[in-house]
Amino acid sequence: RTVYVNGQYLPENEATVSIFDRGFLFADGVYEVTSVIGGKLLDFDGHAVRLERSLNELEMAHPVTKDELLEIHRQLVERNEITDGLVYLQITRGAADRDFAYPKDAEPTIVLFTQNKPGLAQSPVADKGMKVISIEDQRWGRRDIKTVQLLYPSMGKMAAKAQGADDAWMVEDGFVTEGTSNNAYIIKDNVLITRHLGNEILHGITRKAVLEFARVAQITVEERSFTMEEAKAADEAFITSATTFVMPVVQIDDTPIGSGQPGPLTKRLREIYLEESIKAAI
Ligand code: PMP
Repeated sequence: RTVYVNGQYLPENEATVSIFDRGFLFADGVYEVTSVIGGKLLDFDGHAVRLERSLNELEMAHPVTKDELLEIHRQLVERNEITDGLVYLQITRGAADRDFAYPKDAEPTIVLFTQNKPGLAQSPVADKGMKVISIEDQRWGRRDIKTVQLLYPSMGKMAAKAQGADDAWMVEDGFVTEGTSNNAYIIKDNVLITRHLGNEILHGITRKAVLEFARVAQITVEERSFTMEEAKAADEAFITSATTFVMPVVQIDDTPIGSGQPGPLTKRLREIYLEESIKAAI
């Protein structure tokens, strides 16, 4: 694979980052994941805008412009012959002598690589649906910043797997926040419910698109908190993320959701999302 690191395209085994990099020592870094379908980038603009926001929130330098970023994405897709897959991007504050205070002179580290995922949009999970477990949300309080601190979500994923499930939905003060790496939704009496934006969840790029498409399709949307009890009594449930698009959830803990099969509105939203976002891909 060819990867990108600090201005250079290199074979992956020649790319290096300092052991003093603050991404490594402090998880002082942010990231984005953009899907590639048919060799094109889905919602590149949304990801670039959120990246800018994450960098600003952490007072981190912007090492490349949006146009440069697009060019790097395209180069990697081309050089690695990615038809379906993803581009991962990470920017850290850079290497500096270890100190909690942000260094003044560090050059940010920027790394991008691709992952090949043939048939990304034809996942069998989309037909079958996912099982999720509920866990307490023990992450930090600024989940709106897309940082590389992913250990708690990783623990949640492991807990889910240990119970024969696919993922975990996190609960804080009695309300569902989101999945380990996705936003969470329920549908009750044809109303689509998903948590409102705030510091408690990541502002999903897929979430934004799906809510817009839902409104165009005249589906009533309520952006508000919901409890696990409400979720378990819902007609349908699903998640969204850049690489899973719209993915049905058919069981939460031991409770089947609705019929226990992917719901009709969920399927429709997946179709609309894929069709529209592939049409708009660049
Ligand atoms: N929430 C969390 C915690 C995530 O990690 C992700 C994906 N990185 C999402 C939501 C979904 O965001 P997006 O639709 O932009 O991929």
